[in-house]
Amino acid sequence: MTTGRPPGKTVLISGAGIAGLALAFWLRRYGFRVTVVEQCAGPRTGGYKVDIRGAAMEVIARMGLLADVRWISTAMRGGDWVDRTGKRLATLGPGLLGLRTAADEEVQRGDLVSILFEATRADVEYVFADSIAGLDQSDTGVRVRFENSGPRVFDLVIGADGTHSATRRAVFGPEPQFARPTGLAVCVFSVPNELGLDHWELVHPTPGHVVQLYSARHSPAKAQFIFPAPEVTPDRNDVAAQRRAVAEAFQDAGWEVPRLLDAMPEARDFFFEVASQIRMDRWHSGRVALVGDAAWSPSPSSGQGAGMALVGAYVLAGELAVAGNDYLVAYARYDSKLRDYITANLDLGRKIANDMVAATPGALRMHVEAIRVMRYLPWKGRALRSIRKPLVDAANAIRLEDY
Ligand SMILES: Cc1cc2nc3c(=O)[nH]c(=O)nc-3n(C[C@H](O)[C@H](O)[C@H](O)COP(=O)(O)OP(=O)(O)OC[C@H]3O[C@@H](n4cnc5c(N)ncnc54)[C@H](O)[C@@H]3O)c2cc1C
Repeated sequence: MTTGRPPGKTVLISGAGIAGLALAFWLRRYGFRVTVVEQCAGPRTGGYKVDIRGAAMEVIARMGLLADVRWISTAMRGGDWVDRTGKRLATLGPGLLGLRTAADEEVQRGDLVSILFEATRADVEYVFADSIAGLDQSDTGVRVRFENSGPRVFDLVIGADGTHSATRRAVFGPEPQFARPTGLAVCVFSVPNELGLDHWELVHPTPGHVVQLYSARHSPAKAQFIFPAPEVTPDRNDVAAQRRAVAEAFQDAGWEVPRLLDAMPEARDFFFEVASQIRMDRWHSGRVALVGDAAWSPSPSSGQGAGMALVGAYVLAGELAVAGNDYLVAYARYDSKLRDYITANLDLGRKIANDMVAATPGALRMHVEAIRVMRYLPWKGRALRSIRKPLVDAANAIRLEDY
């Protein structure tokens, strides 16, 4: 479906993550001519499980992708918390593990990336293994220089290039002014499913650290490591230093951890981040705007960013479509319509990131005990609803326009 609005505006999107792909989907539907430049050789399919809740599920429905997303659901049955010997400390059913309502979904990040890429690849121009080297704005367009291909002019440029967005750096300034470190580092990669996990997750917490391992349909297992950010941040391009930081942080962790660490060099989807939130007062400047983690990163262990990216892309594309040639009006409306939703989800993302790791042995014991007794409580349903409420409220903190 295209609208009756004048087609033909050219838009360059930097980054083929969930934000960039979803934005490409909607802009194409509204008649824009869309180019996506991605620094990697193809869409990056790494990552752990991510949530799609509330308004983000509504966006998926409006995309016509509800059945696809239900198909890739992780359909987790639950999980165990285990100690360093593998002894079970507590068991969580699916309700407490994911804190989702029946309408929400949990998917593997990479599966969602694949679905969005397949839904757009026929009529969006993808340029892989390249990135923006510089851009100059004028009254008539944005002249973009690329690292590996010749310069081109676009009407608009959107940075969807993640937490360390080069577009943000080029147009809004250096990252530190927008980054709020969480004090945690996160690492995710695929490992052989040697424990035969079947839609089941194992969580091994120690003070300040947590290792999670799960397997869902048709996949190897995925391991996630969360730990205090190393004193010296490994360079973003130095994977060997990142692996060393993970191995060092978990050298005494016991359980299956040595085997998981042994699998680290083989993983083709290794992902490492010293986790920060990104917060900005303004997401646009001239003809350039930002969307997704580039504009607002909730932190990469929160599971929140995918939903926020889907909603942000929907609103940005919709406002550009209805504003016709007036991109400044579109960008201003994009900001005002989305701001409260993003703030609510960033605040929640911060809390989720903090709650994921118990810092002291005492806090860890309390955490485990709370989870252990939860399933026996006669008023479990009520307790679950009240724990879930902040998530439900934040996920629905926007009324989506019908563009
Ligand atoms: C590999 C990976 C694994 C992740 N795992 C998790 C997870 O387990 N849990 C979680 O909550 N969140 C995770 N995240 C973050 C999560 O994907 C985001 O919060 C959310 O999906 C919004 O994504 P985004 O598209 O804004 O940014 P991203 O997902 O970061 O995507 C940005 C894209 O831009 C590309 N890019 C970056 N710089 C440039 C450049 N200069 N030029 C061109 N392209 C560029 C990147 O390669 C990437 O494909 C992960 C992100 C990545 C990239």
